[in-house]
Amino acid sequence: MNSNEKKREIPSARTMLETLNRAGFRHTWPRQIIAEHLAYLGKYSISFTIEELWHAICKAHPGIGRTTTFRTIDLFVKLGLVDRVVFADGTERYHVGTGTHQYLTCEVCHKIVELSPSLAPDLLACLAQQSGFITSGHRVEIFGRCPDCSSPQLKCWER
Ligand SMILES: [Zn+2]
Repeated sequence: MNSNEKKREIPSARTMLETLNRAGFRHTWPRQIIAEHLAYLGKYSISFTIEELWHAICKAHPGIGRTTTFRTIDLFVKLGLVDRVVFADGTERYHVGTGTHQYLTCEVCHKIVELSPSLAPDLLACLAQQSGFITSGHRVEIFGRCPDCSSPQLKCWER
């Protein structure tokens, strides 16, 4: 393993709720349910759209509305718990953050995979420094096609 690789730390529902609390946001029932769903999605590295998340939550908790889901995810993005990836065609997908903010993204099926091993934050800060920048954070997105979308079978189908 690359010694620069940051250990993948998936925030638990409890960690997410504690982060919300520290930032001055109340612990509410919908936030609790959404945090629990996010912890599950993070554990299996599953990216999602708001619509997909809301439909999944609705099955067990019909009382949680789309707007609440949207606002909660927006809040989680602002707090750095969830990363938003916007594709060239405008599609937005979300990924439970592990702090690396480095992704491989498929421009065909919109799959998001964390870059592993990740680039050392020190290296990125050093590169930025060479242009006189003092960094406050970073995100790395590499665009292309995932193995499923670059298989010969699909290339035939696309013609
Ligand atoms: Zn793909």
